Amino acid sequence: MPESPAGPVRVAVVGTGSVGATFAYALLFSGLGAEIVLINRDRDKAEGEAMDLTHAVPFTYPTRIWAGDYPDCAGAAITVLTAGAAQGDNDSRLDLVEKNGAIFQEIVPEVVRHNPDGILLVATNPVDALAYAAWRLSGLPPERVIGSGTILDTARFRALLGEHFRVDPNSIYADIIGEHGDSEVPVWSRASIAGMSLPAYCAAHGMTHDEAALAEIFRHTRDAAKEVVERKGATYYAVAAGMMRIVEAILRDQRTVLPVSSLVQDYHGIDDIYLSLPCVVGRKGIEQVIRLDLGDDELEGLHRSAAILKEATAKLDLG
Ligand code: NAD
Repeated sequence: MPESPAGPVRVAVVGTGSVGATFAYALLFSGLGAEIVLINRDRDKAEGEAMDLTHAVPFTYPTRIWAGDYPDCAGAAITVLTAGAAQGDNDSRLDLVEKNGAIFQEIVPEVVRHNPDGILLVATNPVDALAYAAWRLSGLPPERVIGSGTILDTARFRALLGEHFRVDPNSIYADIIGEHGDSEVPVWSRASIAGMSLPAYCAAHGMTHDEAALAEIFRHTRDAAKEVVERKGATYYAVAAGMMRIVEAILRDQRTVLPVSSLVQDYHGIDDIYLSLPCVVGRKGIEQVIRLDLGDDELEGLHRSAAILKEATAKLDLG
């Protein structure tokens, strides 16, 4: 079924574990999807989630939700990929590359066979390597294959900076770029409140620019997944909210600047790799990868991320 601007907006979710189900719940409450199809290897799990979500429809928006199979991806504006093993207490995200890469070899060709026109949004970890795999395995143009990337890390960073500076996180501009993982890079040189750099903001408001406290904020940002997993076993609310933000920017053609993982080509020697930079996200997917002007140490950090991701990507069997 070709995409029809007049038809109901369909969103497919492949992998209905904690992240996929929470995303579907957030999507239902947004009213942005008229049809939500849930696909899972464990069919009962998808059916149970579809039933439970359908029971919430009277409190939300008219939405058709069902447990389906790959042919139901046809016509979906966006297919969200969250299938795969999650990170355990002692795993790094990169430990999952081969296991989840094999799952993507199964599911990505099935999705695009039935839906060559939609957008793929990948959240499965390691998200940068798997978004790259999804791009290569799908044969889709890179603007239509997006990884959630550091949208989550950036949200964590802004939430903690908001507490530190006692302002709404939405009033803070500060990005995390690079790998969604241990080598991610905080872009301190561009961080601002009301257009003022953080040191200038502090100087103007009688605050100390406490570099040790800010370094600690970054450490908690980078290690947040481990800190949450140690306590509750998994993370899903914030990532689902971040995925919703990407989906909203696409479906409403908002052209919002979001830090997401996309194909980076010819950027300061970084090439043919998925990692996060701020991107303009709209109806076509990645409308623009922003060529950030970075400080030397930030660029060095980004190169480190790119090297780690090249190595991870090389472990994928992409045929
Ligand atoms: P989960 O174990 O709760 O759910 C995964 C689901 O995938 C399971 O229900 C499983 O049945 C299903 N699945 C496995 N193989 C499948 C296949 N071949 N086809 C269809 N379904 C299949 O895990 P979760 O907590 O929901 O995490 C899912 C993924 O999201 C993990 O890789 C996790 O690391 C990742 N994650 C990413 C972010 C991010 O910021 N990108 C944040 C949190 C979690």
